[in-house]
Amino acid sequence: MSADADIPALELIDVRAGYGRIEVLHTVDLVVPPGSVVALLGPNGAGKTTTLAVASGRVVPTAGCVHVGGRHVNGLPPEAFVRGGVCSIPEGRGVFANLTVRDNLKLWSHGTSRSLSEIEDMVFARFPRLKERRRQLAGTMSGGEQQMLAVARAVVADAGLLLLDEISMGLAPRIVAELYELVAQLAADGLAILLVEQFAQTALAVADHAAIMTSGVIRAVGDPVDIAAELAAAYLGGVA
Ligand code: ATP
Repeated sequence: MSADADIPALELIDVRAGYGRIEVLHTVDLVVPPGSVVALLGPNGAGKTTTLAVASGRVVPTAGCVHVGGRHVNGLPPEAFVRGGVCSIPEGRGVFANLTVRDNLKLWSHGTSRSLSEIEDMVFARFPRLKERRRQLAGTMSGGEQQMLAVARAVVADAGLLLLDEISMGLAPRIVAELYELVAQLAADGLAILLVEQFAQTALAVADHAAIMTSGVIRAVGDPVDIAAELAAAYLGGVA
């Protein structure tokens, strides 16, 4: 989770991207400074998930630049983004339900330079609940615990940039609060995080910066406290 003090963890410059002939992102500019949490907020269909897909290499821009840790990564496959320190937790988790917690960690540990026991030590220190559940099949854990395990992949990967898409989906508010506490701890350890969250206030509570997106364009970027008016306008369709 080391990061150069000045180089952004992620930078999107004039990015256009979409699916086939349909352009969804129309010149998106977005910076995630090292070690900071950026909340990407906006109404359904604004292009938030597509922005995360560009940031993880799953969608290739038709124009503009993507920089990860200062490196130009346009057009490279998702594996190159992973090697560059990007860890993407997609909507709907991304754990192997038929494997135990331990076996999920073991699988993720392939390709890292650490042993399974080192990885377990690192993960369980941050996520004590997962230690209790280490022999349990991931698919039989609660939704919140599964999401914790999904987020733990960033620790295993020693990522520099974590992309989170609606990790609160389907979870009770108390569990969401617990999850975001863990996310905040990872950020405090120096991990840069770009998160999309339907509960704007939850996201803003942990975010250093907020970016408001509507109709494939970033309309405003600022401190969470300064962005309330733009946020309200975006959700009411005022800046569509
Ligand atoms: P939500 O909060 O509803 O998930 P979002 O802001 O994350 O919305 P995206 O999921 O990025 O928005 O979707 C933006 C637009 O791109 C939508 O019109 C959507 O229908 C379209 N879209 C998303 N994924 C695909 C795809 N795989 N193929 C074609 N169109 C897509």
